[in-house]
Amino acid sequence: IWTCNTVERAASFIGSQKSPICLPNYVAGRLTPLQSQPMALIDSFNPQTGSLLCKLPCTPASDVETAIQHARHAFTTWSKTTRRERSSHLRRISDLLQEHRELFAVWESIDQGKTLERARIEVDRAISNFSYFSTYILHEHTTARMVDGVALTYEHRSPAGVFALISPWNMPLYLLTWKIAPCIAFGCTAVAKPSEITSMSAYLLGLLLRKAELPPGVVNIILGDGPTTGAALVASPSVDGVSFTGGTQTGIAIRRATAHQIRKHLSLELGGKNPNLVFADAMDPATRDRTIRIAASAAFENQGEICLCGSRIYVERAVYEDFVREITEYVAEKYVLRKTVGAVASLQHYDKIRGYLQMAVEEKATFKLGGIPPALDKDQNQGYWINPAILTDVASGSVLQKDEIFGPVVTISPFEDEEEAVRLANDSEYGLAAVVLTNDGARMRRVGERIEAGMVWVNCWLVRELGTPFGGMKNSGTGREGGEYSREVFTVVRTLHLPSD
Ligand code: NAD
Repeated sequence: IWTCNTVERAASFIGSQKSPICLPNYVAGRLTPLQSQPMALIDSFNPQTGSLLCKLPCTPASDVETAIQHARHAFTTWSKTTRRERSSHLRRISDLLQEHRELFAVWESIDQGKTLERARIEVDRAISNFSYFSTYILHEHTTARMVDGVALTYEHRSPAGVFALISPWNMPLYLLTWKIAPCIAFGCTAVAKPSEITSMSAYLLGLLLRKAELPPGVVNIILGDGPTTGAALVASPSVDGVSFTGGTQTGIAIRRATAHQIRKHLSLELGGKNPNLVFADAMDPATRDRTIRIAASAAFENQGEICLCGSRIYVERAVYEDFVREITEYVAEKYVLRKTVGAVASLQHYDKIRGYLQMAVEEKATFKLGGIPPALDKDQNQGYWINPAILTDVASGSVLQKDEIFGPVVTISPFEDEEEAVRLANDSEYGLAAVVLTNDGARMRRVGERIEAGMVWVNCWLVRELGTPFGGMKNSGTGREGGEYSREVFTVVRTLHLPSD
C-alpha cells in the first residue's frame, strides 16, 4: 500500500491480494497485532465499486487500555519537551505528508468514495493542520498583569494529558489530523480512533508518523467500531480528555459516558442541517453566477458529506423560480454530466439516503433533479452512487428539512422577507453553519449576526483560517477548536499571583 501512489497501482495492488489485507493498529510506535485473541474483524468496502477493500480489528477494551497506557507513559516525557522541539516534529510530519500527498489522496478516494480531486484538497488541509500548529506554538504567549499594585498575575498553561481523538468517515484524514496536530503541539499525547468505515488513511498516517520518528506512544492509532472500541476509549479513567467529531447522538452518548468524570476535557463537534439564504439582490446579473456556484458547491461538494454543507436553501420569492432553474441546470452540468460527485461512503449510508428520497416521493415533493437510486444487493459489488437530488415543494415541517441527511440531497423553499428568512434558518435543533448570499452590506451583518450558527459565511463557503473558532451552537456541539481555542481544549490553565515586590 505504501508505494501505491496512483489509482492504477492501487487497483493492481488490490487485485493482486489473495485475501483482503487486515489493517493493524499503531501503538507505541509499532504496527501491532492485538494481544487479545480472538477478536472480531470489521469489513471495509470501496464505495466506488462496492467490493471488499480491507479488514480491520474491532479493538477490544483490554487492547484499548494498553494503547492508553503507552500514551500515558509517553506523556511524561513529551509534556516536558520544548515548544521548539514539538514544532520541529510537526514540521517534519507536515513535510512528509506533502511528499506523500498523492499516495494519501489516492487511498482516501478509494476508501471514502470521494473524487480524487476532492481528496487532494483534503490532504492539503491535513498538511496545513500540522504546519499551522507547528508555527502557532512558537508564537504562543501568556499575558501578565498587575492587580491592585500588590500582585503580578499570570496564566500558566500545561498540557492536559492523554486524549481520546475520535473522528468520522466523511473527511477521514483531514479531521483526524485536525485533532492530532494541536493535541501533540500543546504537549499532550493521544489515542486516536478513526471511523471503522474509513480507516485506511489513519493506518497510512501511523506509518508516516513512524517514518517521521515521532517518539513512540505520543500518537497511537487504534481501529474499531464505536460501541466496542470508541466507547472503551472515551470511558477509560486514564483518559484526560476527549475531542470528538461525529453525529449528535454519539456526542450525547459520550457526554453520558463521561458525565461522572468532571475533570475530563470534552470537545464535541457534531451534526448540522445548515441553511443557505439567497436574497433577491444576490441574483443580480453581476453576482448571479457566483450565487449559483456557491449554493451548489455548498450543497453537493463531497456528495453533501461535509458537516458544513448547506442542505436547506431558502430563496427570496422574487427570484425563487429563476434560482431553482439555474441551480438545477448548473448542478446537472457540473456534477452529473461531468461526473464530479463521488460515491457515498457506505452501503448503510446509501440505504439511509435512499430512504429519505423515498420519503420525498411519498410526501409529494418535486424532484427538480435526481430520483430514488436502486436498491443494492450487498453481494453484487455495486458502487454506492447517488445522483444529486434537488427537491422543491417540500411540506413545511417535513423531516426532510429537519434531519441531517448528510448526502447529495438539497431542499429549496421560498421566503417572503428577511424576518422570515432568519426564522426559517433558525428553525432547527442544529446550529453548525450557514451561508448568506446578498449584496446588501448592512444586511450581511444584520442577518449574519442573528443566525444561530457557529460559522456564517457571506457570499462564500468553506473558506477558513485555522486560528478562527470552529464549532457549533445548539445540538451541533460544544467547545471550539482552532488556534487559541484548541489551546483551551488541550491545556490546563492555572492563574499564578506573585508578589509584585
Ligand atoms: P458517528 O457519530 O456515527 O461516528 C463518529 C465516530 O465515533 C466513529 O469513529 C465511530 O466509530 C465513533 N463512535 C460511535 N459510537 C461511539 C461511542 N459510543 N463512543 C465513542 N465513539 C463512538 O458519526 P459518523 O456517521 O461517522 O459521521 C457523520 C456525522 O459526523 C454527521 O452527523 C456529521 O455532521 C458529523 N460531522 C461533524 C463535523 C463537525 O465538525 N461538526 C465534521 C464532520 C462530520
